[in-house]
Parts: sequence; structure tokens; C-alpha cells
Amino acid sequence: MSVVDRIAEIAVARTPFSVEFFPPRDEAGEAQLWRAARAFEPLDPAFVSVTYGAGGTTRDRTARIVGELAATTSLLPVAHLTAVGHSVAELRELIDHFAAVGVHNVLALRGDPQGGVRQEWVQHPEGLAYAVELVELITAAGGFHVGVASFPEGHPRAINLAADTANLVNKLRAGAEYSISQMFFDVEDFLRLRDRVCAADPEQGAKPLIPGLMPITSLRSVSRMVELMDSQIPTSVLERLSRAAGDGPAENRDAVRRAGIELATEMSRRLIDEGVPCLHFCTLNFAKATSEVLTNLGLTQSRVGSGAVTRGD
Ligand SMILES: Cc1cc2nc3c(=O)[nH]c(=O)nc-3n(C[C@H](O)[C@H](O)[C@H](O)COP(=O)(O)OP(=O)(O)OC[C@H]3O[C@@H](n4cnc5c(N)ncnc54)[C@H](O)[C@@H]3O)c2cc1C
Repeated sequence: MSVVDRIAEIAVARTPFSVEFFPPRDEAGEAQLWRAARAFEPLDPAFVSVTYGAGGTTRDRTARIVGELAATTSLLPVAHLTAVGHSVAELRELIDHFAAVGVHNVLALRGDPQGGVRQEWVQHPEGLAYAVELVELITAAGGFHVGVASFPEGHPRAINLAADTANLVNKLRAGAEYSISQMFFDVEDFLRLRDRVCAADPEQGAKPLIPGLMPITSLRSVSRMVELMDSQIPTSVLERLSRAAGDGPAENRDAVRRAGIELATEMSRRLIDEGVPCLHFCTLNFAKATSEVLTNLGLTQSRVGSGAVTRGD
């Protein structure tokens, strides 16, 4: 089944949501990911995406984990796949692997430079230069449903917002069925992105543009977020968290966490009012914080009582 069909199916009853995991580095991390997957399963997310690491074993883990999600759970897995560091032949092998293990939804990305987000991006000598080419490669393989990335504040390397919008429209025209946005903290940025895509090409603007959210659970998770996003958190958000943290020598962790959950809940409510097709949560492989936001939004009601989401965050 495709991501778009799953979203449409769930939307009949409630706002769909989806969750994102990252490939763990070790066995303990993998056990945590599976605990989160099992905790989300009864909440019926539209899909579960697994990011693709910078190289080596974490890349292999993504390929393996999406296959296991397809084989052993009721969840719809979406494999992130990046062009960086791969030849076209290697990308074709991975695409074949996904098909062989029953994964037919792929998020096609260029990937960040292997040395880190702020390094120069170097194309593999036998590889691809931009995500749009990966969309074309996967689409040409047949049998896949492809999504792409979008950037409410513009991709950090885009010349300007117009060029950034043109790139997203290009990826959608090339066959992508939906996009998932970079995490953001100003809902207006996301809504303006949606306006720009609709103005540039109403047909592509009608495809699901899914907002990416991440409930903040600690000041440490904020630094992780900045690192992942290669952009800044708005001052108003930092001030809100700092107020919750207090002036004492030790950060008031519970208060920061509460403020983070409140913020994600408020953003989600506004996005639901604005008619977004689905809410996509970056979970860092933990279920509890996202589940609290979902409970605040009334999106777990049909499953309340299952006792599934009680594990520590
Ligand atoms: C939802 C989401 C999930 C992600 N998952 C992962 C992941 O799993 N693994 C990972 O490594 N990274 C991931 N990323 C990060 C992403 O790979 C990086 O942000 C990357 O730098 C851009 O990827 P892209 O697919 O948007 O690239 P592209 O769409 O190729 O764009 C890259 C840059 O090139 C510019 N550009 C595009 N076409 C042209 C052209 N013809 N001429 C000139 N400039 C052009 C764009 O404007 C942009 O600045 C994710 C990002 C998001 C939003």
C-alpha cells in the first residue's frame, strides 16, 4: 500500500500521524527502536519511516530494519534512501533489496555531506547529483511509491526560497507522491511553503505536504535538533524552554519536558486546523513523548486502554 492511500484511509476517522526512527548504532539501540515500534503499533500510525545514515553499518541496519518492520508488524515502513556516497549501481541494488523484502515506499533524498551538514557536498563519481534524479531512478524501477523532503525555511543551501520551491515542485513533477518537511518551530513557515507550492503548481500543490515535528524533551534534545536541521530554533522557543528550565544549577527537567510537549501539541492543533494531511513525528526511537502529544490531540482515543504506551522516554 502507498503512503498516500494509507493517509486517505485513516483520514476518514481522524487526522493521520506518522513516526520516524533512525537506525540504531548497537544492539541496545535496536532493542529501544523495537520497543518504540511495538508501542506505536496499536496507535495505528499511517506509516513508519526509518532514516538512512551517513555510511557503513547504520545503512545496513536501515535496509534490514525496514524489511523486518514489513515482515513482522502491521506498520507500513518507508525506507529513507540517500544518493550521497553511492554509485547508481549500488542504489539500484538497494532499490531491488527493498522490493525483495516487501518495502515499496521510499523517501528519496540527496543526503547530507558525509563529513557533516556543514561540509561541501561531493557527488559520487558514478552517482547522482540531486534528489530529483533518485526520484527518477526509483520511479523507473516500477512498483514503488516515492516521497521527498521539503524545507519550510528553505534548504540551507538553496539560493533563495523561490529556487527551493522550484526544486520541490520539480521533485513532485518527477513522480514523488508527497513530501515530508524538515522539522520546524514556526507554523507560519510551513504554511507559507504550502502557499508557495500551490502558487507555483496547483497540481503538485494538491499532493500531501506533511509537516515534520519533534516534541522537545530536554535542552540536550534541542542541540541534537539543531545539529539535524542545520538551522536555528526560534528565540521565542528557546526562551520558553529556558524559563521552564529555571535559574537553578540543575535544569528543571520535568518542566522543560512539559513545555516541549505543550509546544508540540499547540503546533499540531494549529496544523490540524489548517487541514494538514498527516502529522509526522521524529521520535528519536522513543514512543512516550510523541504518544503524549497524540493523547493531548485525542488521536489515541480509539486505542486507549490497550496499555501499550507506558514505556520510559
Ligand atoms: C523529512 C526529511 C528526511 C530526511 N532524511 C534523511 C536521511 O534519512 N538521511 C540523510 O542523510 N539525510 C536526510 N535528510 C536530510 C537531507 O538529505 C538533506 O537536507 C540534504 O541536504 C537535502 O536533501 P534533498 O533530498 O532535499 O536534496 P535536493 O532536493 O537534491 O536539494 C539539495 C540542494 O540542491 C539544490 N538543488 C536541487 N536541484 C538543483 C539544481 N538542478 N541546480 C542547483 N541546485 C539544485 C536544492 O535547492 C537544495 O539546496 C532528511 C531531510 C528531511 C526534510
